[in-house]
Amino acid sequence: MAIGTDSVVTFHYTLKDEDGTVLEHSDPGEPLAYLHGRGHIIPGLEKELSGRNSGDALTVTVQPAEGYGEYDDSLVQRVPRRALRGIGDIRAGLRLQAQTEQGPRPVTVTQVVGDMVTLDGNHPLAGKKLQFEVRIEDVRPATEAELEHGHVHGPGGHHAH
Ligand code: ZN
Repeated sequence: MAIGTDSVVTFHYTLKDEDGTVLEHSDPGEPLAYLHGRGHIIPGLEKELSGRNSGDALTVTVQPAEGYGEYDDSLVQRVPRRALRGIGDIRAGLRLQAQTEQGPRPVTVTQVVGDMVTLDGNHPLAGKKLQFEVRIEDVRPATEAELEHGHVHGPGGHHAH
């Protein structure tokens, strides 16, 4: 069957950046599964998978706006180290939950200079043009329970119920 709204899609993928560097990939024998048409994967990829079939292999280029968003400079802030008291080894690359007026959100430490720490609230892939190599393993209709829960059960989906 072709992929449409509420199909359960099982697929393997490799994600590369513009330079061809592999950023992520599914593990051999452990494809991912998602419920199509619900915004569970990035829009640029979901759009291209619509109408595809089991066995299809495709390469999809996703612009930032249809991926993890444009890079937003206003999400970068510098704070004094004392604002992060209780956190041991503060270094570039460390990911933290920051308390903001909008509630907790993930940030990445991008720079530590003297007593000042730069925190970046952008998704690590924001602003990046992405290339996905996708191989569709299986397409099936969602079960009633899956539709009710809004996610996939079984391999590649949620296990703990
Ligand atoms: Zn469930």
